[in-house]
Amino acid sequence: MGEDKKSLLQEYKLDQDNELRFEVESKGEKVYLTLKNGMAEIFGTEVVKGKTYEFTSGAKVAVYTWQGCTIEVKGKTDVIYTAKETPMVLYSNCHAALEIARTESEKENKRGPITMTVGPSDVGKSTLTRILLNYAVRMGRRPIYVDLDVGQGCISIPGTVGALVVERPASLDEGFSQEAPLVYNFGHKNVDANTKLYNMIVDQLAVTVKERLEVNKKTRHSGVFINTCGWIKGEGYKSILNSGKAFEVDVILVLDQERLYNELVRDMPNYVKIVFLQKSGGVVERSKHVRSEARDQRIRDYFYGTIKNQLYPHSFDVKWSEIKIFKIGAPPLPDSCLPHGMKPKDHLTKLVSLTPNPGILHHLLAVSFAEKEDDDVILSHVAGFVCVSNLDMDRQTITLLSPQPKPLPNNILVLSEIQFMDSH
Ligand code: ATP
Repeated sequence: MGEDKKSLLQEYKLDQDNELRFEVESKGEKVYLTLKNGMAEIFGTEVVKGKTYEFTSGAKVAVYTWQGCTIEVKGKTDVIYTAKETPMVLYSNCHAALEIARTESEKENKRGPITMTVGPSDVGKSTLTRILLNYAVRMGRRPIYVDLDVGQGCISIPGTVGALVVERPASLDEGFSQEAPLVYNFGHKNVDANTKLYNMIVDQLAVTVKERLEVNKKTRHSGVFINTCGWIKGEGYKSILNSGKAFEVDVILVLDQERLYNELVRDMPNYVKIVFLQKSGGVVERSKHVRSEARDQRIRDYFYGTIKNQLYPHSFDVKWSEIKIFKIGAPPLPDSCLPHGMKPKDHLTKLVSLTPNPGILHHLLAVSFAEKEDDDVILSHVAGFVCVSNLDMDRQTITLLSPQPKPLPNNILVLSEIQFMDSH
């Protein structure tokens, strides 16, 4: 059999506690996976025997088996190998400990465990969060998933933080079902662009999540899983502390970095359990370019859906007079010019009204739920996003790409630094 043909269809027999890892890199390439025998899971989601799953370029996958299995892989992978060393037993032990806490919280009608995953970039934080959420939901739990990673934005789009009640395991194509997510617009892909604003939004999200836990008993006993971003030094570390405090976390899972672990042991209250976990050898490092492509793809999916679930966005003109566009953060004033009572960093969270101008072309705008044009706009969650695809200075209109037809649910729009070039 020639090499090419061999790469097209291969069968892998995995022993118990092994993992088949592969990547699909080439554009347009498709790889099909079928479980022939035994049992397997992908990041905590069960693989159904006999069903064929499709993976496209960008996929970085691990098929793990507790009992042993046979898998057939068809198509050209860029990397494929079987790993015998995985941290899955450790991750499963974490799940078991959290499940004990959930059972106790049920008995005592208390809040279930609030768990936060932290670590540097590319250590598998999102993957661990996904595995633990999947295990919890497979036990019949209904936990809340909070994503504070503005760089990737697993809930909604990049530049946001959000929360979601998880009722089903993540689908292998589309992740967790995005029914009624709670989304706040931060508007930048890096936390350091405006740490003050980020911390304020995280605090607000924490308040709303706690309210949700109060009103739903099942979710309250199931607890919360929080994924964070990989900025762990200086102000980034302070933001982690702030998030931990805001959500009143019970457990922090630290991936890969002992220094971070020790700092958290030193700085978090004693009742917070800090657990050090090794990262999986399978986690793939992503270059700046790959991250930026993933961000674009995420926004494209937001408007146009995925191959399996296509969406048809709307494009319409809106008169400038019909909308109000704001930006959060004003240019800093020299200390000597600060109005009485204003602190040097206050400009970072100032609401500034914008007249449409060519500078907002291709930018995303958050459609706010705020009722009034006051400071509430900053801390209001959002209905969704539109993208400025054209600007007519003479007619004073802007053309918006929108998931929903006209009219917009609210006329208060907030500018995001994140841009999307619509190539459709
Ligand atoms: P970020 O720096 O964005 O915060 P992260 O620490 O959350 O990254 P992940 O997104 O979980 O890292 O993982 C990075 C990539 O590695 C993902 O594409 C994921 O699918 C892949 N990956 C994770 N675990 C494995 C594994 N065991 N085998 C193969 N690929 C994996």
